[in-house]
Amino acid sequence: MKNYKLFFIILFFWVFGILIDLSLLNEKTSVVSFVEEDTKKNIIICIDPGHQEKGDKNLEQVAPGSSQKKPRVSQGATGVATKKPEYVLNLEASLVLKDILQKKGYNVIMTRESHNVNISNSERAIFANQKNANFVIRIHADSLNDSSKTGASILIPSKDNSNTTSIYEVSSDFANLIKESMENSGIKINGIFERNDITGFNWSKVPVVILEMGFLSNYNEDLMMSDKNYQNKMMESVANGIDKYFNK
Ligand SMILES: [Zn+2]
Repeated sequence: MKNYKLFFIILFFWVFGILIDLSLLNEKTSVVSFVEEDTKKNIIICIDPGHQEKGDKNLEQVAPGSSQKKPRVSQGATGVATKKPEYVLNLEASLVLKDILQKKGYNVIMTRESHNVNISNSERAIFANQKNANFVIRIHADSLNDSSKTGASILIPSKDNSNTTSIYEVSSDFANLIKESMENSGIKINGIFERNDITGFNWSKVPVVILEMGFLSNYNEDLMMSDKNYQNKMMESVANGIDKYFNK
């Protein structure tokens, strides 16, 4: 009789112990996912839709303290098929990306959300610096005299430029993850190219890439870049690349 009692007491505590373990486990996993979501709210991604309604030929320094100057904002290209100016396409695609990143939980800030602005390239970089952004993606489209050229390109700050050495490595990591993700969704990428002549890079204290989405000078690619489904597919893959970096 005593043995039975002892057996039930032991059995009771054993089952009770398992139940406590399970509930703690559940609590732990929900805490982890809560922390993950909460962390993403604290990650600031700045999107810079390239150009604006009117270019500004007034000059600004290419880099802090540099004697070299470039126009504040260039005019940008125009689609051969759509006749759409680059600044319109850039904002369209940027808003698609903004939406996707916000749904993933990121805090997204934009250098512009309308066309009638005058924000120079250095001012765009300084904006992201002052907002303490974690990453900047600048959205552009290419154009060439050779209308047969197609594909996207990713530009990053140069390793050998003293203004950008500190942001080179992380910018390069982002570029590689974005490239990989875009290629996985079947988008043609011409490569990742280091540039030391880009004002918006040289003033940046924040890891930054430029995505050249494709060529406005190619008839089919111009049409494709204006297609809503293609914009969604491209920006979904870009967002996944960015997400991979922060999930590491
Ligand atoms: Zn451009």
